Amino acid sequence: MKNYFVTTSIPYVNGEPHIGHAQEFVEADVLARYARKQGLKVIFSTGTDEHGGKIAEKAAEVSMTPKKWADQMSLKFKELMDVLEISADRFIRTTDKNHEETAKKVWHRLADDIYKSSYVGWYCTGDEAFFTETEVNYLNGICPNHNRPFEKIEEENYFFKLSKYGPAIKQAILSKDFHILPESKSHEIISLIDEGLEDISISRPKDKIDWGISVPGDDSQTMYVWFEALINYISVLGFPDHQDFKDFWPANVQVIGKDIIRFHAAIWPAMLLSMGLELPKKLFVHGFITLNNQKISKSLGNVISPFEIAQRYGSDAFRYYFLRHIPSYSDGDFTWENFDNAYNNELANELGNAVQRTVVLIDKYFTKEKLTFSPAQHDSIEIDKSIAECRFDRALDLIWEQVRGLNQYIDESKPWEVAKTGDMDHLKEVLTYQVANLLEIAILLEPFLPTSSAAIVKIFGDNLENKYRTILFPKIER
Ligand SMILES: [Zn+2]
Repeated sequence: MKNYFVTTSIPYVNGEPHIGHAQEFVEADVLARYARKQGLKVIFSTGTDEHGGKIAEKAAEVSMTPKKWADQMSLKFKELMDVLEISADRFIRTTDKNHEETAKKVWHRLADDIYKSSYVGWYCTGDEAFFTETEVNYLNGICPNHNRPFEKIEEENYFFKLSKYGPAIKQAILSKDFHILPESKSHEIISLIDEGLEDISISRPKDKIDWGISVPGDDSQTMYVWFEALINYISVLGFPDHQDFKDFWPANVQVIGKDIIRFHAAIWPAMLLSMGLELPKKLFVHGFITLNNQKISKSLGNVISPFEIAQRYGSDAFRYYFLRHIPSYSDGDFTWENFDNAYNNELANELGNAVQRTVVLIDKYFTKEKLTFSPAQHDSIEIDKSIAECRFDRALDLIWEQVRGLNQYIDESKPWEVAKTGDMDHLKEVLTYQVANLLEIAILLEPFLPTSSAAIVKIFGDNLENKYRTILFPKIER
């Protein structure tokens, strides 16, 4: 049996889960479910990133300990995963004992590439990130993400020799051993490498930031939160000794957002190379979502809750919209109007209606006779290829061609008129064809719309003895 390891990035617990997180969970979930369907043994891991000055700040604002804050926030992310039927096998928290110990082991493994030096530069706690003199000058000293001045930092830090690994990473990207999707993101990181990677600071003095993992052998320093968070991808597999690490690393796909590409396409691969480990096979970088073509932000007050959307329309409709109507390879837009249209026109009118039109006739004319059905089989090479390329939008377009084709068949064969002629053999033939196609569609949709897929199989899979009937995607008025 072959193994398949897929990860999401681990959300930072400084705020509530938003639709961007939800999109990433759903995308990785499709990959995991699809791999399981292919008979692969899958580990799908996700989790939460919980250390750093920003978490300590947030917790202090509400008079909580950072750990208590992180416990509470971490639960919200788990709750979102439940709501969206995310089939993650593992949920790692960077405050887990195991992760902390692994981070220290990794530090030792990287020892040859770590040195102590004084850092003079700038930091924004809001970003938990270092900024160069040039960047800070360009921005007039104010972080545009947080509207607060950068902090001038002059301190002793540990550094990692990132500069050493640029050529090897570039080579891996170009050869596609480390395949970055979409291609545009691959170019972006190559030009970053071509500009020259500088060594990076990977610790902060404990008197400045103490909510984090101590540097082994130097209690006066805390590991930089980003640096240790990246290690989650192997601590979750029990690096270095557990069999899971041996069986599942390198990751088949790591799914991330475009804002953290530098961490995942430069720093993380350099850490892996330094330890003599293989790079992930694929890095899929999804875009951002706007709301009515506006950037979503707390200060604009246009934050939209993924829980609210899922509650109103159900998890499958949520998954459907974000997988098909947010482009897989670029930024996308959410509007309630577009969501309503996708729900009513595609899910209710096309998929739901094809099921309903079939069920009604079978119920009416074949109450005594047992009909047996088996799924139709069409060539799915293009769909498989789309999923392998993380083109979820295209995969759903292709499946929807089958949904539309079936509706067209129903319109043309007019089974309700066949029924009136009394030609039951012909009617049976038409309905059997409809069900065969619906069952095939259900199988294809399983990674995308697991609940509806199971419902369709159940409706037609019980020989209709069981009167279980569900109206898929009942129309919703807003
Ligand atoms: Zn900032």
